[in-house]
Amino acid sequence: MLITEIKTSKITTGLKRPFKTALRTLDYIESILIEINTDSGIKGYGGAAPTEVITGDTEASIIKGIQIIADNITGFDISNMEIIMEKINNSMIRNSSPKAAVDMAVYDLYGKLYKVPVYKLLGGFRNTLVTDLTISLNSPGQMAKDSIDAVAQGIKTLKVKLGDNAETDLARMKAIREALGPDIRLRVDANQGWQPKEAVELVNQMQREGVDLDFVEQPVAAENFEGMRFVKDRVSIPVIADESVFSPADALRLVNMKAADGINIKLMKSGGIYNAVKIADIAEAAGLFCMVGSMMESHAGLTAAAHFAASRSIIKEVDLDVPLLCSEKPERGGTEYNGTTITLPESPGLGISV
Ligand code: MG
Repeated sequence: MLITEIKTSKITTGLKRPFKTALRTLDYIESILIEINTDSGIKGYGGAAPTEVITGDTEASIIKGIQIIADNITGFDISNMEIIMEKINNSMIRNSSPKAAVDMAVYDLYGKLYKVPVYKLLGGFRNTLVTDLTISLNSPGQMAKDSIDAVAQGIKTLKVKLGDNAETDLARMKAIREALGPDIRLRVDANQGWQPKEAVELVNQMQREGVDLDFVEQPVAAENFEGMRFVKDRVSIPVIADESVFSPADALRLVNMKAADGINIKLMKSGGIYNAVKIADIAEAAGLFCMVGSMMESHAGLTAAAHFAASRSIIKEVDLDVPLLCSEKPERGGTEYNGTTITLPESPGLGISV
Protein backbone atom coordinates (compact mmCIF):
# COMPACT_ATOMS: atom_id res chain seq x y z
CA MET A 1 0.00 0.00 0.00
CA LEU A 2 2.00 2.99 -1.33
CA ILE A 3 1.32 6.62 -0.42
CA THR A 4 0.45 8.43 -3.66
CA GLU A 5 -0.96 11.81 -2.64
CA ILE A 6 -1.71 13.89 0.46
CA LYS A 7 -4.54 16.42 0.30
CA THR A 8 -5.76 18.97 2.85
CA SER A 9 -9.04 20.81 3.31
CA LYS A 10 -10.43 23.18 5.93
CA ILE A 11 -13.47 22.51 8.09
CA THR A 12 -15.33 24.60 10.62
CA THR A 13 -17.25 23.03 13.49
CA GLY A 14 -19.85 25.05 15.40
CA LEU A 15 -19.80 25.25 19.21
CA LYS A 16 -22.86 25.27 21.48
CA ARG A 17 -21.35 28.28 23.30
CA PRO A 18 -18.01 30.18 23.29
CA PHE A 19 -15.07 28.26 24.81
CA LYS A 20 -12.98 30.37 27.21
CA THR A 21 -9.65 29.68 28.94
CA ALA A 22 -6.93 31.87 30.47
CA LEU A 23 -5.25 31.81 27.04
CA ARG A 24 -8.07 32.43 24.54
CA THR A 25 -11.77 32.52 23.59
CA LEU A 26 -13.15 30.51 20.65
CA ASP A 27 -16.55 30.91 18.97
CA TYR A 28 -16.09 27.93 16.62
CA ILE A 29 -13.43 25.32 15.84
CA GLU A 30 -11.34 25.59 12.70
CA SER A 31 -9.42 22.50 11.65
CA ILE A 32 -7.42 21.14 8.76
CA LEU A 33 -8.48 17.72 7.51
CA ILE A 34 -5.95 15.52 5.78
CA GLU A 35 -6.56 12.71 3.31
CA ILE A 36 -3.75 10.35 2.31
CA ASN A 37 -4.40 8.45 -0.90
CA THR A 38 -2.73 5.14 -1.70
CA ASP A 39 -2.20 3.04 -4.81
CA SER A 40 -4.72 0.52 -3.41
CA GLY A 41 -7.49 3.13 -3.45
CA ILE A 42 -7.76 3.02 0.35
CA LYS A 43 -7.67 6.47 2.00
CA GLY A 44 -6.39 7.52 5.42
CA TYR A 45 -7.80 10.46 7.37
CA GLY A 46 -6.56 12.73 10.14
CA GLY A 47 -6.88 16.27 11.37
CA ALA A 48 -4.99 19.18 12.90
CA ALA A 49 -6.13 22.29 14.71
CA PRO A 50 -4.29 25.63 14.74
CA THR A 51 -3.72 26.63 18.40
CA GLU A 52 -1.24 29.48 18.02
CA VAL A 53 -1.06 30.27 21.75
CA ILE A 54 -0.16 26.67 22.66
CA THR A 55 1.66 24.98 19.78
CA GLY A 56 2.59 28.04 17.71
CA ASP A 57 1.08 26.29 14.68
CA THR A 58 -1.19 28.40 12.47
CA GLU A 59 -3.57 27.30 9.72
CA ALA A 60 -1.03 28.39 7.09
CA SER A 61 1.92 26.71 8.83
CA ILE A 62 -0.04 23.48 9.25
CA ILE A 63 -0.92 23.34 5.54
CA LYS A 64 2.69 24.16 4.57
CA GLY A 65 4.01 21.66 7.12
CA ILE A 66 1.83 18.88 5.71
CA GLN A 67 3.14 19.68 2.21
CA ILE A 68 6.74 19.42 3.43
CA ILE A 69 6.04 16.07 5.13
CA ALA A 70 4.15 14.86 2.03
CA ASP A 71 7.26 15.45 -0.10
CA ASN A 72 9.18 13.20 2.32
CA ILE A 73 6.78 10.26 2.53
CA THR A 74 5.08 10.06 -0.89
CA GLY A 75 5.91 6.74 -2.53
CA PHE A 76 6.60 4.97 0.78
CA ASP A 77 4.88 1.72 1.71
CA ILE A 78 2.49 1.91 4.69
CA SER A 79 3.88 -1.39 6.01
CA ASN A 80 7.20 0.43 6.61
CA MET A 81 5.70 2.29 9.58
CA GLU A 82 8.97 2.95 11.42
CA ILE A 83 10.59 4.53 8.34
CA ILE A 84 7.54 6.70 7.63
CA MET A 85 7.43 7.90 11.24
CA GLU A 86 11.12 8.73 11.11
CA LYS A 87 10.52 10.73 7.91
CA ILE A 88 7.58 12.61 9.46
CA ASN A 89 9.52 13.51 12.60
CA ASN A 90 12.72 14.47 10.74
CA SER A 91 10.95 16.57 8.08
CA MET A 92 11.34 19.69 10.22
CA ILE A 93 11.75 20.65 13.86
CA ARG A 94 8.68 21.44 16.02
CA ASN A 95 5.48 21.81 13.92
CA SER A 96 3.79 19.16 16.04
CA SER A 97 0.31 19.82 14.60
CA PRO A 98 1.02 19.02 10.92
CA LYS A 99 3.08 16.02 12.07
CA ALA A 100 0.09 14.85 14.15
CA ALA A 101 -2.31 15.12 11.21
CA VAL A 102 -0.07 13.00 8.97
CA ASP A 103 0.71 10.54 11.79
CA MET A 104 -3.03 9.97 12.41
CA ALA A 105 -3.76 9.33 8.74
CA VAL A 106 -0.80 6.94 8.49
CA TYR A 107 -2.04 5.01 11.55
CA ASP A 108 -5.49 4.96 9.95
CA LEU A 109 -3.97 3.32 6.85
CA TYR A 110 -1.80 0.98 8.95
CA GLY A 111 -4.94 -0.27 10.70
CA LYS A 112 -6.75 -0.62 7.38
CA LEU A 113 -3.79 -2.53 5.90
CA TYR A 114 -3.93 -5.14 8.68
CA LYS A 115 -7.74 -4.84 9.09
CA VAL A 116 -7.72 -3.90 12.78
CA PRO A 117 -8.91 -0.77 14.65
CA VAL A 118 -6.03 1.45 15.75
CA TYR A 119 -6.77 1.09 19.48
CA LYS A 120 -6.31 -2.69 19.16
CA LEU A 121 -3.14 -2.22 17.14
CA LEU A 122 -1.73 -0.12 20.03
CA GLY A 123 -2.66 -2.48 22.87
CA GLY A 124 -6.45 -2.70 22.93
CA PHE A 125 -6.78 -2.19 26.69
CA ARG A 126 -10.50 -1.21 26.51
CA ASN A 127 -13.11 -0.17 23.95
CA THR A 128 -14.95 2.48 25.94
CA LEU A 129 -13.77 5.61 27.77
CA VAL A 130 -15.44 8.10 30.08
CA THR A 131 -14.49 11.74 29.59
CA ASP A 132 -14.75 14.64 31.97
CA LEU A 133 -16.47 17.86 30.83
CA THR A 134 -14.77 21.26 30.68
CA ILE A 135 -16.28 24.30 32.35
CA SER A 136 -15.16 27.50 30.58
CA LEU A 137 -13.64 30.45 32.41
CA ASN A 138 -16.37 32.90 33.40
CA SER A 139 -17.68 34.66 36.52
CA PRO A 140 -18.03 32.49 39.65
CA GLY A 141 -21.84 32.61 39.38
CA GLN A 142 -21.88 31.68 35.70
CA MET A 143 -19.41 28.82 36.24
CA ALA A 144 -21.48 27.46 39.15
CA LYS A 145 -24.56 27.60 36.90
CA ASP A 146 -22.73 25.88 34.03
CA SER A 147 -21.56 23.18 36.47
CA ILE A 148 -25.09 22.56 37.74
CA ASP A 149 -26.33 22.32 34.13
CA ALA A 150 -23.59 19.75 33.34
CA VAL A 151 -24.36 17.63 36.40
CA ALA A 152 -28.09 17.77 35.57
CA GLN A 153 -27.15 16.05 32.28
CA GLY A 154 -25.54 13.20 34.20
CA ILE A 155 -21.91 14.35 34.12
CA LYS A 156 -19.89 13.16 37.14
CA THR A 157 -16.46 14.77 36.58
CA LEU A 158 -15.79 18.40 35.69
CA LYS A 159 -12.54 20.00 34.59
CA VAL A 160 -12.69 23.66 35.50
CA LYS A 161 -10.72 26.31 33.62
CA LEU A 162 -9.02 28.84 35.89
CA GLY A 163 -5.90 31.00 35.83
CA ASP A 164 -6.77 34.60 35.00
CA ASN A 165 -7.03 35.88 38.61
CA ALA A 166 -6.17 33.94 41.76
CA GLU A 167 -8.72 35.64 44.01
CA THR A 168 -11.56 35.07 41.55
CA ASP A 169 -10.32 31.50 41.00
CA LEU A 170 -10.86 30.73 44.69
CA ALA A 171 -14.34 32.28 44.56
CA ARG A 172 -15.11 30.25 41.41
CA MET A 173 -14.18 26.92 42.98
CA LYS A 174 -15.96 27.62 46.24
CA ALA A 175 -19.11 28.58 44.31
CA ILE A 176 -18.90 25.44 42.16
CA ARG A 177 -18.32 23.04 45.07
CA GLU A 178 -21.07 24.67 47.08
CA ALA A 179 -23.49 24.37 44.15
CA LEU A 180 -22.65 20.72 43.41
CA GLY A 181 -22.22 19.14 46.82
CA PRO A 182 -19.50 16.59 47.63
CA ASP A 183 -20.14 13.79 45.11
CA ILE A 184 -18.98 15.35 41.84
CA ARG A 185 -15.29 15.04 41.00
CA LEU A 186 -13.52 18.32 40.24
CA ARG A 187 -10.14 19.02 38.70
CA VAL A 188 -8.75 22.42 37.69
CA ASP A 189 -6.62 23.62 34.79
CA ALA A 190 -4.86 26.97 35.28
CA ASN A 191 -3.42 26.96 31.74
CA GLN A 192 -0.12 28.43 33.06
CA GLY A 193 -1.95 31.34 34.72
CA TRP A 194 -0.41 31.31 38.21
CA GLN A 195 2.95 32.13 39.76
CA PRO A 196 4.45 29.21 41.71
CA LYS A 197 3.95 30.64 45.21
CA GLU A 198 0.49 31.87 44.30
CA ALA A 199 -0.44 28.41 42.99
CA VAL A 200 0.67 26.71 46.22
CA GLU A 201 -1.25 29.15 48.39
CA LEU A 202 -4.37 28.95 46.22
CA VAL A 203 -4.52 25.16 45.88
CA ASN A 204 -3.88 24.66 49.60
CA GLN A 205 -6.57 27.19 50.45
CA MET A 206 -9.04 25.48 48.10
CA GLN A 207 -8.35 22.17 49.82
CA ARG A 208 -8.67 23.72 53.30
CA GLU A 209 -12.00 25.23 52.33
CA GLY A 210 -13.38 21.90 51.14
CA VAL A 211 -13.15 22.32 47.35
CA ASP A 212 -11.68 18.78 47.19
CA LEU A 213 -9.77 18.60 43.91
CA ASP A 214 -8.60 15.46 42.04
CA PHE A 215 -5.56 17.29 40.67
CA VAL A 216 -4.32 20.60 39.29
CA GLU A 217 -3.19 20.90 35.69
CA GLN A 218 -0.41 23.18 34.45
CA PRO A 219 -0.47 25.69 37.34
CA VAL A 220 2.53 27.71 36.09
CA ALA A 221 4.23 28.73 32.84
CA ALA A 222 5.05 25.87 30.44
CA GLU A 223 8.81 26.44 30.48
CA ASN A 224 8.99 26.80 34.28
CA PHE A 225 9.78 23.20 35.26
CA GLU A 226 11.31 24.40 38.55
CA GLY A 227 8.02 26.17 39.27
CA MET A 228 6.06 23.00 38.48
CA ARG A 229 8.25 21.09 40.95
CA PHE A 230 7.88 23.86 43.54
CA VAL A 231 4.10 23.50 43.38
CA LYS A 232 4.16 19.68 43.26
CA ASP A 233 6.30 19.50 46.40
CA ARG A 234 4.01 21.81 48.37
CA VAL A 235 0.44 20.72 47.61
CA SER A 236 -1.31 17.51 48.69
CA ILE A 237 -2.97 16.78 45.33
CA PRO A 238 -1.26 15.62 42.12
CA VAL A 239 0.14 18.21 39.72
CA ILE A 240 -0.04 17.33 36.06
CA ALA A 241 1.83 18.87 33.16
CA ASP A 242 0.09 19.88 29.95
CA GLU A 243 1.75 22.73 28.03
CA SER A 244 5.13 21.79 29.64
CA VAL A 245 5.26 18.48 27.75
CA PHE A 246 5.15 18.31 23.98
CA SER A 247 7.75 15.67 23.10
CA PRO A 248 9.17 12.49 24.65
CA ALA A 249 12.29 14.56 25.45
CA ASP A 250 10.13 17.02 27.43
CA ALA A 251 8.60 14.09 29.31
CA LEU A 252 12.04 12.74 30.15
CA ARG A 253 13.16 16.16 31.44
CA LEU A 254 9.97 16.45 33.53
CA VAL A 255 10.63 13.01 35.01
CA ASN A 256 14.30 13.75 35.70
CA MET A 257 13.34 16.97 37.49
CA LYS A 258 10.51 15.24 39.40
CA ALA A 259 8.43 18.24 38.31
CA ALA A 260 4.96 16.62 38.09
CA ASP A 261 2.87 13.60 39.09
CA GLY A 262 1.23 13.15 35.71
CA ILE A 263 1.22 14.19 32.05
CA ASN A 264 -1.69 15.31 29.89
CA ILE A 265 -0.80 13.90 26.46
CA LYS A 266 -2.30 15.57 23.40
CA LEU A 267 -1.58 14.46 19.85
CA MET A 268 -1.31 18.09 18.66
CA LYS A 269 1.63 18.55 21.06
CA SER A 270 3.35 15.18 20.64
CA GLY A 271 3.14 15.22 16.85
CA GLY A 272 0.76 12.26 16.80
CA ILE A 273 0.29 8.75 18.14
CA TYR A 274 3.86 7.51 17.53
CA ASN A 275 5.37 9.97 20.02
CA ALA A 276 2.36 9.85 22.35
CA VAL A 277 3.13 6.14 22.92
CA LYS A 278 6.73 7.03 23.81
CA ILE A 279 5.55 9.69 26.30
CA ALA A 280 3.17 7.17 27.91
CA ASP A 281 6.06 4.68 28.16
CA ILE A 282 8.32 7.24 29.86
CA ALA A 283 5.55 8.24 32.28
CA GLU A 284 4.74 4.63 33.09
CA ALA A 285 8.37 3.71 33.72
CA ALA A 286 8.74 6.72 36.03
CA GLY A 287 5.56 6.05 38.00
CA LEU A 288 3.60 9.01 36.61
CA PHE A 289 0.01 8.65 35.40
CA CYS A 290 -1.29 9.95 32.09
CA MET A 291 -4.34 11.78 30.93
CA VAL A 292 -5.26 12.11 27.26
CA GLY A 293 -6.66 15.44 26.18
CA SER A 294 -7.10 17.37 22.97
CA MET A 295 -7.14 20.86 21.59
CA MET A 296 -10.40 22.32 20.35
CA GLU A 297 -10.20 20.23 17.22
CA SER A 298 -12.06 18.13 14.68
CA HIS A 299 -13.88 14.87 15.29
CA ALA A 300 -11.11 13.13 13.30
CA GLY A 301 -8.49 14.39 15.76
CA LEU A 302 -10.64 13.47 18.75
CA THR A 303 -11.18 9.98 17.36
CA ALA A 304 -7.44 9.43 16.92
CA ALA A 305 -6.85 10.61 20.51
CA ALA A 306 -9.57 8.22 21.77
CA HIS A 307 -7.90 5.27 19.98
CA PHE A 308 -4.64 6.10 21.75
CA ALA A 309 -6.36 6.68 25.11
CA ALA A 310 -8.22 3.36 24.93
CA SER A 311 -5.12 1.38 24.04
CA ARG A 312 -3.10 1.63 27.25
CA SER A 313 -3.74 1.04 30.97
CA ILE A 314 -1.46 3.93 32.05
CA ILE A 315 -4.02 6.39 30.64
CA LYS A 316 -5.98 6.97 33.84
CA GLU A 317 -7.86 10.15 32.94
CA VAL A 318 -9.66 11.17 29.77
CA ASP A 319 -10.40 14.74 28.72
CA LEU A 320 -11.93 14.26 25.27
CA ASP A 321 -15.11 16.27 25.69
CA VAL A 322 -14.85 18.49 22.60
CA PRO A 323 -17.64 16.66 20.69
CA LEU A 324 -19.94 17.40 23.66
CA LEU A 325 -19.19 21.12 23.26
CA CYS A 326 -19.90 21.10 19.50
CA SER A 327 -23.23 21.82 17.86
CA GLU A 328 -22.41 19.73 14.76
CA LYS A 329 -20.18 16.93 13.44
CA PRO A 330 -18.99 17.43 9.85
CA GLU A 331 -17.07 14.11 9.60
CA ARG A 332 -18.76 10.68 9.57
CA GLY A 333 -17.88 7.62 11.63
CA GLY A 334 -15.29 7.62 14.40
CA THR A 335 -16.09 7.49 18.09
CA GLU A 336 -19.68 7.52 19.35
CA TYR A 337 -20.64 9.61 22.39
CA ASN A 338 -23.44 8.60 24.74
CA GLY A 339 -23.25 11.37 27.33
CA THR A 340 -19.67 11.19 28.59
CA THR A 341 -19.19 7.54 27.55
CA ILE A 342 -17.11 7.19 24.39
CA THR A 343 -17.26 3.98 22.34
CA LEU A 344 -14.43 3.19 19.96
CA PRO A 345 -15.28 2.15 16.39
CA GLU A 346 -14.54 -1.48 15.50
CA SER A 347 -13.86 -0.83 11.81
CA PRO A 348 -10.23 -1.01 10.61
CA GLY A 349 -8.05 2.06 11.16
CA LEU A 350 -9.54 5.08 12.91
CA GLY A 351 -13.03 4.44 11.53
CA ILE A 352 -13.40 8.02 10.23
CA SER A 353 -14.83 8.85 6.81
CA VAL A 354 -15.65 12.20 5.24
MG1 MG B 1 -4.71 21.85 29.86
